[in-house]
Amino acid sequence: MGRKVVAGNWKMNLGLAEGVQLVKEIEANYTSNDEIRVMAFVPSLFVSTLADTASSLEIGVQNFYHESKGAFTGEISIEQVTGCGAFIGLIGHSERRSIFGETNELLKAKVDAAVANEFEFIFCCGEPLEVREAGNENDHVRQQLEESLFHLSANDMKEILIAYEPVWAIGTGKTASTQQAEDMHSAIRSWISEKYGEDIADSVSILYGGSCNPQNASELFACENVDGGLIGGASLKADSFCSIINA
Ligand code: PEP
Repeated sequence: MGRKVVAGNWKMNLGLAEGVQLVKEIEANYTSNDEIRVMAFVPSLFVSTLADTASSLEIGVQNFYHESKGAFTGEISIEQVTGCGAFIGLIGHSERRSIFGETNELLKAKVDAAVANEFEFIFCCGEPLEVREAGNENDHVRQQLEESLFHLSANDMKEILIAYEPVWAIGTGKTASTQQAEDMHSAIRSWISEKYGEDIADSVSILYGGSCNPQNASELFACENVDGGLIGGASLKADSFCSIINA
């Protein structure tokens, strides 16, 4: 399956000094190797400093805009991000979709800008609670992928990382069961396979996100189609984040 990845999403938490400390503590506690990529999606203001502080921990941004420059107050471009030392970003986190109104169409523009700039990204998808309760989670997630991602060429698709994050599990302490996670991850892989073939589907890393913690990580990561995790709350402390990496 895809390469293993454990990624922290700090969201709008921590000050700069705390962030520097956390990067140092994480790096003191895990040994980086070829099998697992470890990354942290940090507040964009901190990117320069944290990219200088980190040696093997990859520093990424939680958001970016698809235009390269101009009158877009408050936004940051891919060129600005890479100029500050980060080479990967999140696209389509559920908080960007629900709080900031990001649509599948806008996310497609971000996907295209990232691909054009050879900027790596994790594409986040996942269904809200009411969609799961109505039994429509597969249609919902498939539509997110179809409308923002599945126009890519096979060559570009094989570089993509996907995070499946059921919205009802994010920051709620409620985790998807291993069955729910595996069912969706294998569905995502089968949709990629239908469109791009099995080799490409197998090369895409599909991460699980949603209240993943040191207690449940090994069970989730043992699922055949789960290639790692996108971790919110539990990435803010080195001990819990490193336990998840070790899982
Ligand atoms: C996230 O924000 O991507 C996330 C998974 O958060 P948490 O782990 O806190 O549920």
